[in-house]
Amino acid sequence: VHGVVRLDPPNLASNWIDGGETPAASGKTIEKISPIDGSVLCKVPRSDAADLEKAISPMVAAQRLWESVPGVERGNILYEIAQTMHERREEISRMVSLETGKSLKDALAETNGALLLARFAAGEGQRLYGRTTTSSIQNRLVLTIRQARGIAGLIVSANTPIANIAWKVFPALICGNGFVLKPSEDAPLTAWLFGKILSTSRLPKGSWAIVQGLGSEAGDALVRNPQISVVSFTGSTAVGRKIASVAGERLARLSLELGGKNALVVCEDADLEQAAQWAILSAFSNAGQRCASGSRVIVLDTVYEKFKALLVERTSKLRLGPQDSDDLGPVINEKQMNQMLAAVEAAQKRGATILCGGSRLTGAAHAKGYYVAPTWLENIRPTDEISSSELFGPISILYKVRTLDEAIDLLHSTPYGLTSAIHTRNIDQALAFSQRVKTGVVSINAGTYGSEPHLPFGGFGQSGNGSREPGTEALDVYSELKNVYLNYKR
Ligand code: NAD
Repeated sequence: VHGVVRLDPPNLASNWIDGGETPAASGKTIEKISPIDGSVLCKVPRSDAADLEKAISPMVAAQRLWESVPGVERGNILYEIAQTMHERREEISRMVSLETGKSLKDALAETNGALLLARFAAGEGQRLYGRTTTSSIQNRLVLTIRQARGIAGLIVSANTPIANIAWKVFPALICGNGFVLKPSEDAPLTAWLFGKILSTSRLPKGSWAIVQGLGSEAGDALVRNPQISVVSFTGSTAVGRKIASVAGERLARLSLELGGKNALVVCEDADLEQAAQWAILSAFSNAGQRCASGSRVIVLDTVYEKFKALLVERTSKLRLGPQDSDDLGPVINEKQMNQMLAAVEAAQKRGATILCGGSRLTGAAHAKGYYVAPTWLENIRPTDEISSSELFGPISILYKVRTLDEAIDLLHSTPYGLTSAIHTRNIDQALAFSQRVKTGVVSINAGTYGSEPHLPFGGFGQSGNGSREPGTEALDVYSELKNVYLNYKR
């Protein structure tokens, strides 16, 4: 599919409460701005605690009804939703593309990922395994069964809107939970369309809700609401820390999927052409707005200059724009763009060299959008702020090291531990690296990736709080385990 993606969004990306569309109770709105040209795409309800009350009060009974539906049938209902999403995948992808500025091709790939997750979670309805086990007491058999937590509060970031939504909604539902989703204020339209799809499904009316608005208002009220028994959050480490303190106070279960400062290591014996290709994809795909993005590249000194030349030469050929023929789009909003450019400027003042990029695109085709030129930096110390702060944009740093041990120490020198990659032809080196590094995903001779939908994803250190979603591990986030003692007479 070609051409700049255009479709008519609704004037208001409404909330979905008790099965219907509704504005914020206060009537307040915020604006969603197009990252492609700075125009207003739609208004967004600026919801608060009152809207959450409206969403949650019918949900208490509706969730009980949903939980009473057998797991296999819950799975069937989720399959039907996945089928509708499949039939409307182009429409969903157009919405993703419109509000994020990524190409339709990339949005379709994201929607397909969301569908894989939806079908995987639906299939879990036929399993939801517990244990059948023995006991220390005579004439007793023990079953360990799963039970829904209740109502899940789901808060997501804007970078991959439909994937982020599916990642949380489907596992929460298959376990029998109701949910309130707080989408990112930067991606309200995809969530609105998802609500429209759910509103035609066989989910009990009121068992789910989508409440739009600001993180500090709608998001914070969601985390504080005592009816929310599990909070799952995908976003920055700074916000994750705030949420953890609020949820911790009332002992709500919490799953945090946070940031990264992911490193790709290039060894002396690497296929340099291939490594350069992966480094560029890792750093710049989705305009660097991936928790798994390769924002650090650590290169052994004997190949450093050659690799650097390859990277810069290839990066200069990247095209920026919202078309399928472009390599990367804009970043999500003006504020984030300005923050990342300020971080580059501060690093430069401390002695960093900008190898390419480092600024906003100002030509006629890009000037109104939030386009940051793909940027490589060098001459940066591991202790410099930019070495450990996540910029979430198309900016990456090159480091030179003498040994693989030094590379691994540098890799571990940030508070994060989400993903990593090594490029080498030496199998011993690759396997030893994969065993040693403290990251939730390790790739050999490829990019810094997230996980596939059937695998657990999460990170060490401040990349999360140790939980893993999705995969079957997500079931542990969204359900309780209960032991049932079956006592009998002989
Ligand atoms: P963000 O933390 O600013 O916002 C994420 C969400 O949290 C938004 O919906 C926002 O409205 C909400 N929020 C903000 N303040 C809140 C508060 N006080 N209480 C409750 N909710 C609040 O992040 P962002 O800029 O939208 O997304 C980028 C971040 O997300 C990056 O750090 C990235 O690494 C991370 N991310 C992580 C994963 C992962 O799986 N580990 C995946 C994608 C993105």
